[in-house]
Amino acid sequence: SASIEIAGVSKVYDGGVRAVDAVAMDIRQGEFFSLLGPSGCGKTTTLRMIAGFETPSAGEIRVDGADITHVPAHKRDMGMVFQNYALFPHRTVAENVAFGLRMRGLDKATIAAKVKAALAMVELSGLEDRRPAQLSGGQQQRVALARAIVIAPRVLLCDEPLGALDKKLRQQMQFELKQLQKKLGLTLVFVTHDQEEALAMSDRIAVMNGGRVEQVGTPTEIYNQPMTRFVADFIGDTNIFRGERVAASLSLDVGKGLILVLPPTEAQGTGVLSVALRPEKIRLSPRGDVSGAASSSAHGVVENTNFLGGAVLYRITLEGGHRILVQQPNAGTSRLFVPGNGVTLDWTPADLVVLK
Ligand code: ADP
Ligand code: MG
Repeated sequence: SASIEIAGVSKVYDGGVRAVDAVAMDIRQGEFFSLLGPSGCGKTTTLRMIAGFETPSAGEIRVDGADITHVPAHKRDMGMVFQNYALFPHRTVAENVAFGLRMRGLDKATIAAKVKAALAMVELSGLEDRRPAQLSGGQQQRVALARAIVIAPRVLLCDEPLGALDKKLRQQMQFELKQLQKKLGLTLVFVTHDQEEALAMSDRIAVMNGGRVEQVGTPTEIYNQPMTRFVADFIGDTNIFRGERVAASLSLDVGKGLILVLPPTEAQGTGVLSVALRPEKIRLSPRGDVSGAASSSAHGVVENTNFLGGAVLYRITLEGGHRILVQQPNAGTSRLFVPGNGVTLDWTPADLVVLK
């Protein structure tokens, strides 16, 4: 498998839509790399430029250091899986999987052996003679995957490949795809708008917004140290406060006239800032119970609760009117708060993330 460098790549479609705007990223060999962002942010366009289905308006794409920006798609040795599978409806499973091999002019016996191996890899052995309409959604997705990997591609490109599957099957396929990718040592570029999916599967994620890359990082970096307000907001739930940094101190505005002065955090920047705090980083206790945490606590009232099973999400109105989310592990009925309860919130200053 191969590494991919995307260097200052832009795409302006006819009619002037700037779908991708000066994107740069280095995808490492053998890496599961996701492009994550809302609909219309340029994920598919980026993937199609890597595949060679679209030509960049500017910039360069390199594979293992070689410029392939103008190499035609069929000479790039890349496999592609689409959300709608794009199987040939009138051909059997085996014929669908054999397609890329026949295009490459391999002999019949070699094709048969490779098809067999690819179908075994995706656990479809025995279904060679079925047609796509005789398969479940998950099986069709596996055929599409087998068709993409059978050519032993240098890179596998997947555009929302699990989007049409229901939740249980989707989670199972996420697990299987990741296992297959590791087993084959494939460089895999995976497009999704689903942040949970990206966090679960990826070695690294590029978060995109409006044609640009907001941040590239591991799932934990993206979640724990979002660099921009967009990333903090898009990945998971988050509370965003106004902060003010003067010299070594950071003040956090948690409500009407209430500014808490905290020990300095590692984050850079001065003046007025946005500060993010994840709901699960806040501890909740009955009002007045907290001792010794006065410099990073606040008081409020529970407005409503959302039982998530393993955890409980509370919406709390702070003194001063700010509304925030707090998530606590489900520690049993006796530890639950109900609407109207007065609560004290506290957190560790190091969990505050200063955004750009
Ligand atoms: P995503 O996959 O993240 O949803 P796309 O890459 O499909 O985003 O689209 C990015 C932007 O480019 C959108 O505004 C979309 O409408 C536009 N776009 C996509 N394909 C074309 C095209 N063939 N012609 C013109 N505009 C396009
Ligand atoms: Mg898309």
